[in-house]
Amino acid sequence: MKPLQIVVLVKQVPDTTEVKLDPKTGNLIREGIKSIVNPDDRNAIEAAVTLKERYGAKITVISMGPPQAIDAISEAMGMGADRGILLSDRAFAGADTWATSSALGRAVQKVEGFDLVFAGRQAIDGDTAQIGPQVAEFLGVPQATYVCAVEEIKGDAIVVKRRLEDGFEKLELRLPALLTVVGEINDPRYPSVGRLIDACREKAPIEIWNSADLGFKASEVGLEGSLTHVVNTFSPKAKRQGEIIPGGAKEVAQALLSRLSDKKLLRDTL
Ligand SMILES: Cc1cc2nc3c(=O)[nH]c(=O)nc-3n(C[C@H](O)[C@H](O)[C@H](O)COP(=O)(O)OP(=O)(O)OC[C@H]3O[C@@H](n4cnc5c(N)ncnc54)[C@H](O)[C@@H]3O)c2cc1C
Repeated sequence: MKPLQIVVLVKQVPDTTEVKLDPKTGNLIREGIKSIVNPDDRNAIEAAVTLKERYGAKITVISMGPPQAIDAISEAMGMGADRGILLSDRAFAGADTWATSSALGRAVQKVEGFDLVFAGRQAIDGDTAQIGPQVAEFLGVPQATYVCAVEEIKGDAIVVKRRLEDGFEKLELRLPALLTVVGEINDPRYPSVGRLIDACREKAPIEIWNSADLGFKASEVGLEGSLTHVVNTFSPKAKRQGEIIPGGAKEVAQALLSRLSDKKLLRDTL
């Protein structure tokens, strides 16, 4: 069997537990926020590396993002990926999910003879879960989402298990195919220090592709190539104002009882 050609789509995301919106502009406040590999994408890399160990494979990691997204690719290479490609160009700025998917789709097409594409189910910042399915449609290949187990490669097909709301579904997909994975599929390994050093020392250089490398006109990518535009982003306003009653437990309880009584919310028997 010839080694599988596997592509993994990896997004670098802000550590969202720390993300806040600027109340004036509605933009994400990114200053000082740590960037991480999107959690589901670490599972996608692990799934690819497991297949490599079982059947033999060459793994290419593709990320679209600013230059610092190279760190996410290096981490993937530290986990066992062989080739890294960063799609980075000012022209990609403002891309909606469709413009992002078409850039990623075109990059996958340039990876000759790809058999399998892995993506995470969802990114923890954008949260749309649209990219995997859209890339599959762009490539015209079968897809399975919510994959929680890869069972085997059977000839020119792959057998996977999908998580459903109240059960599981087993699917056989003809290759090439695209899978989006959920966290329960595996426990991602830590990157090996030796492989990380190789990635940083450029023994395994990461390629940077721009929109022209993918054969796009400026009008087909980024904001211009997007089918949707954000009109506004905002945090929901708290509807009711809370009140904190100061004091010790007894005082607070008495104050609370008297307020409830004033509002006629207590029954006479109390
Ligand atoms: C109208 C609109 C305007 C936008 N404008 C901007 C903007 O100006 N600047 C900006 O930074 N973002 C912008 N975005 C967000 C950007 O489109 C999304 O971050 C991107 O399309 C990915 O969508 P998602 O985060 O929901 O990924 P999901 O669909 O939730 O991700 C699923 C999986 O797809 C893969 N994936 C997703 N994104 C990438 C990526 N970039 N590289 C590699 N793999 C990936 C990963 O495997 C991930 O686990 C905009 C979005 C919309 C809808």
